[in-house]
Amino acid sequence: MSASVQFSNDVMTVPDGAALSNSICALSMSPADPRARTYHGRGGAVTLVMGPLEYNQMLDKYLLFTPGPVNVAETLRTAICKEDICHREPDFDALLGSIEHKLISLFQIKNRARYRAVVITGSGTAANEAILSSVVGKGAILILSNGEFGERLHKTSLIHNKRTHLLEVPWGTPFDPAQIAAYLAAHKIDVVAMVHHETCSGMLNPLAEIGALAKTAGALFAVDGVSSVGAEVIDMEACNIAFVSSSSSKAIGSYPGLSFVVGRKKHFKALKRHAAKTTYLNLATFYAFLKRHSQTPNTPAVPLFYALDQALTDILRIGVIKRYARIKARADLLRDGMRRLNLDFLIEEADMCSILTTVRVPPSICVHDLRDRLREKSIIIYEGKGCFAGKVFQVGNIGELSDYDIRFFLSALKDVLLTLQAEAAELVAPVQSKRTTLVMLPTPDRLRAKVVS
Ligand SMILES: *Cc1c(COP(=O)(O)O)cnc(C)c1O
Repeated sequence: MSASVQFSNDVMTVPDGAALSNSICALSMSPADPRARTYHGRGGAVTLVMGPLEYNQMLDKYLLFTPGPVNVAETLRTAICKEDICHREPDFDALLGSIEHKLISLFQIKNRARYRAVVITGSGTAANEAILSSVVGKGAILILSNGEFGERLHKTSLIHNKRTHLLEVPWGTPFDPAQIAAYLAAHKIDVVAMVHHETCSGMLNPLAEIGALAKTAGALFAVDGVSSVGAEVIDMEACNIAFVSSSSSKAIGSYPGLSFVVGRKKHFKALKRHAAKTTYLNLATFYAFLKRHSQTPNTPAVPLFYALDQALTDILRIGVIKRYARIKARADLLRDGMRRLNLDFLIEEADMCSILTTVRVPPSICVHDLRDRLREKSIIIYEGKGCFAGKVFQVGNIGELSDYDIRFFLSALKDVLLTLQAEAAELVAPVQSKRTTLVMLPTPDRLRAKVVS
């Protein structure tokens, strides 16, 4: 059925004669199979299961194969439209309390009474800057960096903390715990800060190992978990984490705009002894408002709080460990498929986070063209940044992506790579005019000519 469905503007004709032209009143999708769409017309309803081509044509959205932003669930679209409330009324106190309770549930914490969570209106960087500007005081902080986001922690710390130390290894390289232990033995360090999942390379850094080194040195351990929380299983107690930051729009799966810090209560309490370095991002102020009023110090983006609460409900309904397994299975599907396309990955699979794969750009392919051609197929990926620019592309697998979307991505990637390789090898007809190029599009079973403008 799917092969002969015709689309033109809002007129759709299906092969069994049930033409629903101009009379389509509603469209519904099946959560079980994203290709199945039911068109409700005046004369009844028709359900179509689309093939990959129709699916591509019908995508009324981008598929975000990025490590955040993500395609959000329908439950969140409903949640963000809840009623208007005042953030100085008990309705908001209850909403924030609900979010805090769920945030603490993300971290395998056994002794829940020892932990609190504050929510900040601002992206992941806001939570990181809140930690870096609030927990060091006049003390010394050591930043561990093996990539772009480690470097960002360092830059932010330099703004707020005179005694900022940096231990860095090249992007995409694992840390050497012996080197860190030696550095901590030789210097008086009060806080150690590290990115958990270094998003620029996809590398997962070892929390338990570094947390133990910080503990031995008598230092607080602060973690940027912006791109791992909600996917990876993180045990705050076992890893000796004092504060962890994250945001709403990566593995948590909600809209961008909120971030949060979960931390040990005794460390939150101790913050008030430091002089404030910022107004908006002062964690001591966030903690004081939370304790006294169950509120935030300034006007929060309330609709985003509703969506975050729903995202957390959805995560906890599945369970943190089971959800991790699902995300990892999706990454495995993606990685198996890309390996079959002879693609190489930047780092060892054992070092990768479950949310993202960083892929080496094959010879003769321009990553910018790859990104453009995938966008034409409604797929969004990232190019590498910094020293990885032009050398890698990144494919995320978080948010509302189904196994079918992954397979659709893999077939689109194969088509685009073959096309770009053929073009590079000048296996195509010469350009005939500025606007029209004849391109041979190899498909699994045949070569098909297609006009691309
Ligand atoms: C995305 C990201 C950030 C920055 O988050 P924003 O929401 O863009 O402010 C910080 N750290 C890591 C590891 C990230 O992946």
